[in-house]
Formats: sequence, structure tokens, C-alpha cells
Amino acid sequence: MTVKIDAQGGISTMRGRLFGHGSVRREALQTVQSRDPVRSTVDYTVTPVSEVFGSNVFNRNVMKKLLPKNVYKAVLRCLDHGEQLDPAMADIVANAMKDWALARGATHFTHWFHPMTEQTAEKHDSFLSAAGADGGAILEFSGKLLIQGEPDASSFPSGGIRSTFEARGYTGWDPTSPAFLIESTNGKTLCIPTVFCSYSGHALDKKTPLLRSLEVLNKEAVRLLHILGNRQVQRVISTVGPEQEYFLIDEAFYLARPDIINCGRALFGARPPRGQEMEDHYWGSIKERVLAFMMDAEAELYKLGVPVKTRHNEVAPAQFEVAPVFEQSNVATDHNLLLMEVFRKTAQKHGLRCLFHEKPFSGVNGSGKHNNWSMADDEGNNLLEPGSTPLENTQFLVLLTAVVRAVNKYSGLLRAAIAHAGNDHRLGANEAPPAIMSIYLGDTLTEVVNALIAGQKEMKSAHGKVVLQFGVSTLPDLPRDDSDRNRTSPFAFTGNKFEFRAVGSSQSIAFPNTALNTMVAESLDYMSNELEKLTKGGMDISAAAEKVVRETLKENQRILFNGDNYSQDWHEEAAKRGLPNYHNTVEALPEYIKEDVKELFRNYNVLSEDEMIGRYNVRVAQFCKTINIEWLLTKSIARTMILPAALEYQSRLAATIVQTKNAVSGINLTIQENMLRDLTDKVSELLIALERLEQPMNSGNGSSGHGDAETYTMCKFYQDEVIPAMQAVRDAADELETLVDDSLWPLPKFREMLYIY
Ligand code: ADP
Ligand code: MG
Repeated sequence: MTVKIDAQGGISTMRGRLFGHGSVRREALQTVQSRDPVRSTVDYTVTPVSEVFGSNVFNRNVMKKLLPKNVYKAVLRCLDHGEQLDPAMADIVANAMKDWALARGATHFTHWFHPMTEQTAEKHDSFLSAAGADGGAILEFSGKLLIQGEPDASSFPSGGIRSTFEARGYTGWDPTSPAFLIESTNGKTLCIPTVFCSYSGHALDKKTPLLRSLEVLNKEAVRLLHILGNRQVQRVISTVGPEQEYFLIDEAFYLARPDIINCGRALFGARPPRGQEMEDHYWGSIKERVLAFMMDAEAELYKLGVPVKTRHNEVAPAQFEVAPVFEQSNVATDHNLLLMEVFRKTAQKHGLRCLFHEKPFSGVNGSGKHNNWSMADDEGNNLLEPGSTPLENTQFLVLLTAVVRAVNKYSGLLRAAIAHAGNDHRLGANEAPPAIMSIYLGDTLTEVVNALIAGQKEMKSAHGKVVLQFGVSTLPDLPRDDSDRNRTSPFAFTGNKFEFRAVGSSQSIAFPNTALNTMVAESLDYMSNELEKLTKGGMDISAAAEKVVRETLKENQRILFNGDNYSQDWHEEAAKRGLPNYHNTVEALPEYIKEDVKELFRNYNVLSEDEMIGRYNVRVAQFCKTINIEWLLTKSIARTMILPAALEYQSRLAATIVQTKNAVSGINLTIQENMLRDLTDKVSELLIALERLEQPMNSGNGSSGHGDAETYTMCKFYQDEVIPAMQAVRDAADELETLVDDSLWPLPKFREMLYIY
């Protein structure tokens, strides 16, 4: 018999190979060993970062150079003040964009949009409009093509908003997010960020409501700031910096894991003997192949003008994080989607695969996306930065109070905005923010808030006496590390911004930010109305602000919590406070169609009732479909990969026992027989669990595309019946992984995938 040492140092025999069960896995191990770090196409010693950055973006600098002055000014008014761009001007912009793109080797253009999935959509058109009379090519790109496209919308999720007979959808240019060139092996494509809506004008995408929410936030914030006496402000935007977590595994392992290929996560796999307990991966030195990947991906993102800033190893083995510098939330959303796309593509170039699933590997930490959120005025001042003057401090406290009120009033909506099948593995588990939404303010700010609620005019801080009278108030310095002490809070004030930590790593940040912008706009509106009532009654604005802040904080203080969000005590306390605690997606999603939520979006013209119901339907259906795919795969992997390996081992053990008994008469093999018995028990357990998994599926069908009450029933069915049945199959299979001959095991194990690059 040929015996071979494999890459793991384990011994495998030719017999194992012939039977083939474990061979794919062993070949994967060998492939991984032969890999080298891959070079980036960018060499910063030749082209400095400053030249690379934005080189594939049709940004302000480019427009300033290429557009006539009056057109450029009109574009700026459109970007900075939300003015409409005249179609004649759009023609000129389109021409300049085309010339710029052609000069860089582009052959095609596409409207690039966000349907109601977590990803983007693109359909490429060449610039070629017709063959000229002389047989030459005519390249054309008009203002009309820039401004509007007409994709067939019938295959995008709509949640029933658009009936299939009205298949036409429209894409419309979003000039607030710059056009860019995507490079691929054989050429470049001009991508134009657009919105996507139906013939009847319903938003079929995630960007339209995000842009609408930015408009209302702007309107309500400017109004409030004017009331407070800050009259020079003309525009307010929300700013977002999404920190993105992800896993990287070698492509050879990935290709041997049908579950990761199709579901983005391992549906099977025993806990690795070495998990994250050594605490040595977090911020550890980055392995060469991984760093080569990161730098290459960053170079591509620099070209696209995506300001990626930090990179590091995360808590779980094979887990990493990248964070950009914050931007206006619409651009930040586009850039986060681009980042994910570039990471996926670049990983493949490096023989790796990038996993954005919230929980690819059970037993180690999952991935999130910390959505850092704030507001800024047209001069770039961060409006959640505690100020140095009494006016700034008054403004800060009023805005802070508005956010506190918004999160308290719509905490259910915030929870629903981040609810999806992948995130259910994370939220509420002992590693990530809990499912109960609450706000952490840090010790110092909490003292301020308590003093304000109590009506105290001054308080003591580490720096001495602090005056808390509006109009003359001096806020204590808020120590930054105050906010870092609590990593368990889902919504933490981190010194000059809020960090919404419950967003899933695979999710688009568009809707969570749409919800945030809209609910904060509603609170700003409320504050303005209250202030106006008081000032009209003759109260001066400082006294009015003080009164409104005190009363509003008092009414909404149940949402404030500085303690350990994982503790049982908090769960009990939160229940007493009446805070919603939705354990999973199925419980959370109905928030979308609650009266007060529908009213919120309707009143501020962000989403109509139909659009909101459509979104709810899409999410319900997405949940069903996700679990349905997992169900199908669990069944097929268990039946066709795990069972055969286990049965093969069972047969070998049985044969060994029989042969030994024949060879040595009267030998006592009780222990070995017990070993065989244990194994067969486990195999039977797996089979019983598998049969159970197959049964309930007769009562459900995951293919329904358009959600409604029926689909919601199905969604509950998946949650209550299918998920536990899948878990039972997994439990038995994972135990078999620890019993069966390693050389027969067909699926790369966690101990390999998470450690070998
Ligand atoms: P950390 O959370 O590790 O202390 P930072 O506070 O510097 O790191 O930033 C984390 C993320 O928050 C980054 O993406 C950063 O750009 C973003 N961020 C910083 N300030 C703001 C702001 N005013 N608005 C939105 N995001 C911000
Ligand atoms: Mg952070």
C-alpha cells in the first residue's frame, strides 16, 4: 500500500484516494501549499497614491477641467444645493463623460443601481450607436442616455409593487454620486450611479428612498438650526463611515465546500480545536498573502476614489476588517457596495475568497458592519461634535436629544432594518450587539443628561464645575475613551458620532441609513415645533431649548443604557422598560408595516405605503428563500457527502472486526465493537434527523416570489420547523466529523480553512 504524507502532516493511503471521499479535500490542501502572494498592478514608487486616488472617477476635479464654466457651476449647484440640472447642460456633461471614458479605453457604459437585493445591478451598452455610412463606427452618448435608462424590471424583486405586465422600469442618473470606470481584464466600463423606479414612479431600489431621506433630513435640520439662531447654515447632510468585517479563505477550500459556495456560510463543520481563545489574531501581524490581497484591493479602491483607511486582523481566525474615511451617506453607501465588489474580485485574483456572510463559521465570531453616523453642515462642521461656544453646545444638546428620541420612538424599525437570515446568527448571541436596541452615551454625557433631566443648573466634572444653562452652558470635555468602554451597545455615542453596530456584514447600508435619516428628521421636526410653540408664547430661545431638551430626554430616557447589553439583567430591565426585543428576523420584520412606521415614511415622502409594503414583502420572501436554499443544501450535503463517508468508515470498522475475529480465535473485541456501535448510533441519529428535515418541507414551498400574509406564514414555518431540523442534522454530522477517519472526510475542516493560507 502506498502511504503518503499530506500537507497537514497526516498520513493518507492510496485506498482513501481510490474511494475518493477525502481526495478533494486533500487536493485542496496541496493547492493551498503551492500558492504565492500575488502582485498588484499598481506600483506606488512609479505612480504615487495621490495620482492613483480617484484616477478612475469622473469627479469634481475632472469636471472642472472638462466642462465649460457655466455648466460646471450648474453641476455644483445640483450637487451642493439639490438644484435640478437643465437637460441641455446634461448633454454637455454626457459628452464630456464619454470623451473622458473613451480616452481611458472604455468601450461600454452602464447605469449602475441598487435593486432591492443586497447588491448592485448593471447592464452594459456599448458607446457604438451605428455603423456610419462610410462603414466606420459612430460613438455616441447623449444627455438622454445619461439621464435615463429603461431596463426590463420584471426580474428584480419588487414585493408586488410592480405587476409583471408593467415590466418596464426606469433608471435615472444620480449626479450626487460620481460616475466611475470599472477595469476588467479586457477593458473598462463607465458606471453611472442611478436610481431605479417603476413605470408608475414607485421606487424599486434602495437608493431612491435614501436620497429622499437625505432631502428631509436636510430640510428639518436646517429649519431647526435656523430656529436655534444658526442662520448661516444652508444645507445639512448625514455622514457615514461603515467599518466592514469579512473572512478570507483559500479558494481551493471554498471550491470544496458547496455550502459556502451557495449559502456563503458553512452549514456543517465541527468547532475547530483552536478557535479564537488564544486572542492572538486580533490586530496580529497580517500574513503575507492576506496583506498582498488587502493592498491590491486598496489600490483598486483608490482608483475608484474610495477612501479606505484602516486594515487589521479581527477577532476570529481568518477574519479581517477594513474601514474608510466617512463620506456623505449616499456616496458612502455606493462606496461600501463597490468595496465589497472589489474585495470579492480581488480575492479571486489572489486565489482567495472573501466571505461577507454574518456567520460563515459557527464557533467563532461573526461579521458586522459598524455604521458610524453623524450630520454635517455645508461648511463641513460635524453637528454631533460637542462645541466650544454656548451656541454650539445648545445646538449639540438639541440634536443629541433628537437622535435619542428618534431611536426610542423607532427602535423597532431600526431593529427591522437590519433583520435578515444571516444576521440572526449574530444578534443576541454573545459576541455581537443584542437584539434589543438601546443607546450608550458614555459616563460623562450620561451625567450631563441626568443633570439636565433633574433640572440642575450646574454639575461637577473631572475638570471642575460645569454650567448647564442653555445659552451660557459649558459642556465638560467628553473623553473619547468613554465611548470605547462599552462594546456591547448596539447604538453607541462615540464622542462625535453614533455607531450603529447591529448592521450585518453582508447588508447594504442603504436602508438602515434611510431609516436613521428619516426618523431623525421626524424628531428634528418635533423639536422645531416644540421650540416654535414656546418662543411664540414669548419664551426666549435658550430657555425654550432647555425646556424642550429636558422634557424630551425625560420622556425618552428608557432607551439609554450604559451597562452590559449581554446580561440577563438587562433583558429583564429592558422588558420592564417596554423596549422591543425581537429575537429574529421573523419577529422583527412586521415592524415595516406597523402603522406608525408606514406613517413616518409616508409623512416625510420617503416611502409611500405601497413602497413600504413592497419592501416588507421582499424581505419576508428573501428570508424564506435563504432558508430554503440552506435546507436543500443541508439535505444534499448530508446525504451525498457526509453519510457516504460515515458509512464507508462504518463498513471498514465492521470488516476489521470480522477479519480480526477470524484471524484470532476467541479474541475479545468488546471495546472495538462498542466503537462501531457508537459510530452506527451517530449515523442513525443523522439519518433520523435527515428524515425529519425532509418531512416538514411538504407543507411549505420556498419559491414564492411575491410576499403576502401567506409568505409570512411560510417564513414562520421556516423559522420554527426548518431551522431546528437543520440544526439537528448538523449536530449529528458535526459529531461524525470527530469520529470518522480523517482521510475519508470530504469537506475541508474549520481547522484547515481558518488557518491555512
Ligand atoms: P474607532 O471607531 O476605531 O475609534 P474612528 O472613530 O476613527 O475609529 O472611526 C471609525 C469610523 O467612523 C471610520 O470609518 C470613520 O471615518 C467614521 N467616522 C468618523 N467620524 C465620523 C462622522 N462624523 N460621521 C460619520 N462617520 C464618521
Ligand atoms: Mg469603531
